[in-house]
Amino acid sequence: MAKFVVNPSSPAQYDAWRKGVVPEVERVGPGLWSVPVPIPINPLRYVLVYVLELPGGVAIVDAGWNTDEAYDALVAGLGVAGHGIADVRAVLVTHIHPDHYGLAGRVREASGAWIGLHPADAALIRERYDDEVVDSLVRREREMLARSGVPGETVDELAGASMSIRHLVSAVRPDRLIEDGDRLDLPGWDLRALWTPGHSPGHLCFVSPSRRLLFSGDHVLAKITPIVAVHPQSRPNPLADYLDSLAAVRKLDVEEVLPAHEYRFRDLTGRVDHVTAHHEERLAEVEQVVGAATGGLTCWEAATRLTWSRPWETFQAFARRAATNETLAHLVWLAERGRVACVPGEPERWHLAGR
Ligand SMILES: [Zn+2]
Ligand SMILES: [Zn+2]
Repeated sequence: MAKFVVNPSSPAQYDAWRKGVVPEVERVGPGLWSVPVPIPINPLRYVLVYVLELPGGVAIVDAGWNTDEAYDALVAGLGVAGHGIADVRAVLVTHIHPDHYGLAGRVREASGAWIGLHPADAALIRERYDDEVVDSLVRREREMLARSGVPGETVDELAGASMSIRHLVSAVRPDRLIEDGDRLDLPGWDLRALWTPGHSPGHLCFVSPSRRLLFSGDHVLAKITPIVAVHPQSRPNPLADYLDSLAAVRKLDVEEVLPAHEYRFRDLTGRVDHVTAHHEERLAEVEQVVGAATGGLTCWEAATRLTWSRPWETFQAFARRAATNETLAHLVWLAERGRVACVPGEPERWHLAGR
């Protein structure tokens, strides 16, 4: 695929990312700050929390993981911007992944801020993070992985791969549900919510038309592409959702993209086109792998035959599960377009359509 390099809008932030260190707290523009909050055991290293100044306090976009280190970094970052944690009035959360939602409850406790989330993600919190019901989610994950052809001895390990990080989220409920197109009631800001399902069923981006800014969460990032996977809590065809959501942000008149990881950048349309092309290429590769297997193959078998950024053998349980479920997202997309077909069963097998 042709190389495409985004244009970073903060040389200092880009430089820090390149050197593998956490960037400084930065003033992005009038009344707007970027606060990197560290996340543990993760190559992304930090989530970028955005601080939006209001007449009597601040709103933040995303919060960080629920660790003391993250909380202290957020408090310190707010301090650099001239605010305290008690000044937070609103926590706008792009989606419920631990690096975005984890700390929201603690911020609310310290400040009385309201927490806003899209209803499709709010609906997933109980099953995902409540101890009494999480077993049912693991069971559904196990069934799904078995259907994908994950070998028996590996299924349990893969199904439980997220359990160790659950404590990094406080399973609080949001105070407000934010729907597609909602205008956020934040004085001095013309912020509008855009529902961008794909990476998460209720992923939200926030747009400021007057400032031509897009808070893109994990939907569009400068370097990496977010995981788009079929899993027990996903919508039926998350890759179709994701590609539609890319097309939706592509229509926006945006000058600068403020993502939740890596570094902020310009040229949204160029980046969207590149990510779209990446998935088209991936779809072609999946179709080719299916076509090359006589008698069809399972999703797991397809996943092991695709090219990945690292050798398959080096993948840990969490990465193998993500890769399997991502492959399934591509198979489901191809099946919906009539390019491959699924023979149901335990496991289910995939063929080229018409064979
Ligand atoms: Zn995420
Ligand atoms: Zn993230």
